[in-house]
Amino acid sequence: MPATTHTTAPRYPLATNPTIFGKILRGEIPAKVVLEDDKAIAFHDIAPKAKVHVIIIPKQHMQCLRCMEAADADLMAHLLQFANQVADKLGVKHSGYRLITNAGEGAGQTVPHLHFHLLAGPNLPAL
Ligand code: 5GP
Repeated sequence: MPATTHTTAPRYPLATNPTIFGKILRGEIPAKVVLEDDKAIAFHDIAPKAKVHVIIIPKQHMQCLRCMEAADADLMAHLLQFANQVADKLGVKHSGYRLITNAGEGAGQTVPHLHFHLLAGPNLPAL
């Protein structure tokens, strides 16, 4: 079987992004926004798995980290910097936080729009 490539996965423009996060970006469903800039938005997870559980997404759609191309490097760097700003705003930058992305259904990804989970608070399970 040939190796799976993810670089051909569709990238939807904002107007037709069919995912739940596309609907949030278009304001069609509400979200509790923590921070937003021109490239990214962070909002509280609807079903938090930790005391602090925030979703960070790029506004530009790609399915998941496996779809990253060289041209996305600046955006990825921006998302990491943005995550640090989110942590600062949430007051967990100094105490510590965890940043996770599920890349593909086999890793537990349920929403096919790249996102990072920012988790913080007591009793995070050891990895
Ligand atoms: P995944 O399982 O794809 O890594 O993470 C998707 C996350 O999105 C889950 O933690 C889930 O609770 C969250 N989520 C799903 N639907 C919504 C929604 O409508 N609003 C918000 N704020 N989070 C959502």
